[in-house]
Amino acid sequence: MSLMGGAVAGAVAPGAALADPQEPDLIVHNARVHTVDNAVPKAQAFAVRAGRFVAVGGEDIKSLAGKKTRSLDAKGMMVVPGFIDTHNHAGAGGIGNGYAGGEGLLYDVHVGNPYEVEQVSIASIIAKLKTKAATLPPGTWVLGNFLDDTKLADKRPLNVHDLDKVSADHPVMVVHRGGHTIFVNSKAFQLAGVTKATPNPFGGTFDKDGNGELNGRVTDRASAALLKVGKWEQFTPAQKEKRLLEGVAFISGKFAQYGLTTVHHNEDGALEAIQEQRRNGKLKHRVSYEARGDLLEAMIRNGMESGFGDEWVRLGATAEHAVDGSLSERTMAMRQPYIGMPASYHGNLTETQEDLNAWCERVHRAHIQLNCHANGDIAIDRTLTAYERALKLSPRANARPKITHCSQINPDLVRRMKALDVVPSMFSTYPYYNSDKFHFYGQETMQHMIAFRTLLDAGIKAAAGSDFGPGPFSPLMALQAMVTRTGWNGETWGASQKITLDEAIQVNTINGAYNSREEKDKGSITAGKLADFVMLADDLHAIAPEKIKDVKIVQTVVGGQVMYQA
Ligand SMILES: [Zn+2]
Repeated sequence: MSLMGGAVAGAVAPGAALADPQEPDLIVHNARVHTVDNAVPKAQAFAVRAGRFVAVGGEDIKSLAGKKTRSLDAKGMMVVPGFIDTHNHAGAGGIGNGYAGGEGLLYDVHVGNPYEVEQVSIASIIAKLKTKAATLPPGTWVLGNFLDDTKLADKRPLNVHDLDKVSADHPVMVVHRGGHTIFVNSKAFQLAGVTKATPNPFGGTFDKDGNGELNGRVTDRASAALLKVGKWEQFTPAQKEKRLLEGVAFISGKFAQYGLTTVHHNEDGALEAIQEQRRNGKLKHRVSYEARGDLLEAMIRNGMESGFGDEWVRLGATAEHAVDGSLSERTMAMRQPYIGMPASYHGNLTETQEDLNAWCERVHRAHIQLNCHANGDIAIDRTLTAYERALKLSPRANARPKITHCSQINPDLVRRMKALDVVPSMFSTYPYYNSDKFHFYGQETMQHMIAFRTLLDAGIKAAAGSDFGPGPFSPLMALQAMVTRTGWNGETWGASQKITLDEAIQVNTINGAYNSREEKDKGSITAGKLADFVMLADDLHAIAPEKIKDVKIVQTVVGGQVMYQA
């Protein structure tokens, strides 16, 4: 099955002058091709040349084969366009340490499972962190990532007393995989000068237990007080470079293994390593790189617009500009109160309307695609207000402002999104992975959350955004979640938002391409587009929906090159 292995699209072999320049490099036949192209929805075969599809149709495509053409018999397997994840913190290295590009994923302590549903014990978390603490000098942060508060076998929250057992000399931080809350020990509070009397800052909280004592949980912008104290583990420049390069290769291999061919990266500091690994042949997926900080400023100052780059590494929208907190950690800003929390609590808004307006105007005027993180209805309303203003001040076709998550909608928000051609990047795996958190919102609210049905019906091109680390990135888990709305624990939430399998495949392919304005090149198996596709062991139409996530990825191909082979 490795007929395409090592092929370099367009490579000219000695004696190739005699070959027909139109000859395909590859023909895949005897396949159930689900093209996601309305003009030719189903096909049996396709041909690839110079990294792009050149013909899609019936078995007669085999007659295009020349001397150099490699032929692959798919043996009746299903082939779909390569999957696209439009929101992924590929770095997933927690907060504060500046890790990027898979480095944290490869080297850090994981207190939970990044990729699949798994229950862990608090004792295992303490043990892992103790082992790490023993390798670090006192005063240095001991960091644990991928905590999921609803995947704790103990059925109670992690707290400051648990983390005090790790060390009295090291500050200890466990980062929730949602990225908006951290759990710290007493040493960390002491270094930061935070006591039970410290007031909550704007946009965050130091949480207390029933006795009014700090319980160790710190939310959203309150984390800043902790992040500025203590020392972080140190690496030499050579170690740092090696970690970054290996991290990029590691995460890229993981993406290919799960069938992703394009990922929108939402991280700092990995762009150079991504390009280096591309030169080394270790980049196995295409990158839409979403800039923030220094890189975004450099783009604005120097006239680099979204779309700069090539078909492998391209600057996309901005990184998500946070307007509110998190869905999974119950800090998103919504009008209604949270179930089981004080009626006065409506989550955290992390940006004022004026600041948001100014940021959006500045970025949009620089011809950079806007992208704000907004989960709750209040935050989406605020974001749309800023987008409407920016586009009115500086009208431009195809601006397609992006909203990351866009979780809780109502008819008015949908109407405004449609008017601006907003491209939402919505949680993809959450209805499967995070079904254990939706009781905080309740069944009625969940009928309007992660609302693929409503948005597709309104003609809005909703795309899949795993938000990895917070959510697993498996596109098959995402398809299952969208089709069933049923979680790992058997609970179904917001069943009215189910979509069909074919719609879910569109969400994970062509709508992802539209999200970064690349639909001319990606998202379907269409002659002229990049030859990115995935071969699956089972036809997804022929199996029970609750088995979709376990279907074997047989092969992931990007630009005609095999990037993963089972
Ligand atoms: Zn995110």
